[in-house]
Amino acid sequence: MSTLITEFITVQSPADRSVLADLGVDGPDRVATAAASLRAAQPAWETLGLEQRSRWLAAMRDWLLDNTERIVDIMEAEAGKVRAEAALELGWVCDIINNYSRRGPELLGDKRIGASLLPLRATKRYTIQRRPHQLVGVIGPWNFPVVLTFGDAIPALLAGAAVLLKPSEVTPLALREVVRGWQQELGAPPVVDIVLGRAETGGALIDEVDFVQFTGSTRTGKAVARRAAETLTQVSLELGGKDPMIVLGDADLERAANAAVWGGFVNSGQVCISVERVYVEAPVYDEFVARVVDKVKALRHGTDLGAMISPAQIGIVEDHLADARAKGARVLTGGSRADREGDWYQPTVLVDVNHAMTVMREETFGPVLPIMKVDGAQEAIRLANDSPFGLAATVFAGDARAGEEVARQIDAGTVNVNDALHGAMCIDVPMGGWKASGIGARGGDYGMLKFTRAKTVTAPRLPAPAAEPLWFPYDSVRAQIAQRAMRFINARGRRRWQSSR
Ligand code: NDP
Repeated sequence: MSTLITEFITVQSPADRSVLADLGVDGPDRVATAAASLRAAQPAWETLGLEQRSRWLAAMRDWLLDNTERIVDIMEAEAGKVRAEAALELGWVCDIINNYSRRGPELLGDKRIGASLLPLRATKRYTIQRRPHQLVGVIGPWNFPVVLTFGDAIPALLAGAAVLLKPSEVTPLALREVVRGWQQELGAPPVVDIVLGRAETGGALIDEVDFVQFTGSTRTGKAVARRAAETLTQVSLELGGKDPMIVLGDADLERAANAAVWGGFVNSGQVCISVERVYVEAPVYDEFVARVVDKVKALRHGTDLGAMISPAQIGIVEDHLADARAKGARVLTGGSRADREGDWYQPTVLVDVNHAMTVMREETFGPVLPIMKVDGAQEAIRLANDSPFGLAATVFAGDARAGEEVARQIDAGTVNVNDALHGAMCIDVPMGGWKASGIGARGGDYGMLKFTRAKTVTAPRLPAPAAEPLWFPYDSVRAQIAQRAMRFINARGRRRWQSSR
């Protein structure tokens, strides 16, 4: 029975505000119906086994590769991305499929735990089995509409879960096409579905699923965690950041400047792990700033830089800049909207900044790069850590080992030495936020294991007697023997061993 749709979302192109689609909002009823169908299909999917599930994901990878141009067109239109960046997103999804298909047997296979010295345990066999959460809900943001939704679904699907996806209301079209590919073009098992809408739809999804994979702002992440607490549903929250970059005096300044410009302005600065603030040692500060400004002036709207997602996002950028200017910051380039139709903003470099300014404290999520002079590495580390966020960071140093020493002192989930944004591109390592930047991680072992529950099975190795020594009825002799045996095995040092005799 179809549910009556009474509310709609209008999807617009940020580049020129043209209307791309009007879509019905899925209310709680439709979310519940979709969840029930997915639950019904999940047991067969789990029973298929990892090898067969990997085959379906491989078919999906091939479909994505065969349909890249069309999906990139959609992403370009709905997210205002430049083509080069939109195309990378699908390659990233394929990488996730290949990597977790390869790692799956090792991560999901049974683990045997060796016998203990304790006689009680030596007679047992311990096996840790991994079973999937039955239904995983993925709520995603608009800045990477496919990889941060379907990409997160991949390890869950390989683990045997069914997945219900909820894209951002501003960028639902590319993901809707990907789900159509799975459901209709591949005819794959019905374990993937999508619901469309705003916060109410996301909230209803949280009520229905067994695990929530959320990517978005810290503010919404807290709301998601509160809602999930009502049903004691586990969450993995990938949230916002205010990522610092440190440039030491002996760094390769040309590479550091290129990294700052790419790391600060990729996707128009609308990346959770964008470089959002830069600290440069005093002796190289002027030269670094000059190189960055030259490079930023050369960026081209439409080729290097896409549009901003919405007028509201431009509003945040303007608020941060107004606050910084009022407190003494200087704009070296940019500093206003671009002179063209749609939601475009000039790439902006700020100096004379300090930590009293919002632009150094809160996530700007726009094409703004504030650069601050510091006396030395210790001041840079202190300022880098002076933040409620801890998502990622960058360190540039002449000696990579010295850079790693600085990296170890930074409070963040990922630190890249002599590179920008790199950790996020390697699916084999965890990428998770510290502090207000999140709970959990994607990537690495945990990126797949989180979609599973560990089950311990204990079984006898030998024929079992009618009763174990620790069972009823208690008697003092057996209790004493057991206690002494425990003491003997666990004690360290001759005095404690002797006292257990
Ligand atoms: P939001 O937090 O605004 O939204 C994220 C998703 O949550 C959207 O689908 C949104 O729907 C939905 N949502 C909103 N309110 C609720 C609610 N009450 N319950 C359930 N779902 C809800 O983030 P943005 O889309 O603006 O994305 C930008 C943010 O994401 C930035 O802060 C960025 O740093 C962060 N991010 C973090 C990443 C990471 O890996 N750590 C990666 C990429 C982005 P709708 O859009 O329809 O309102």
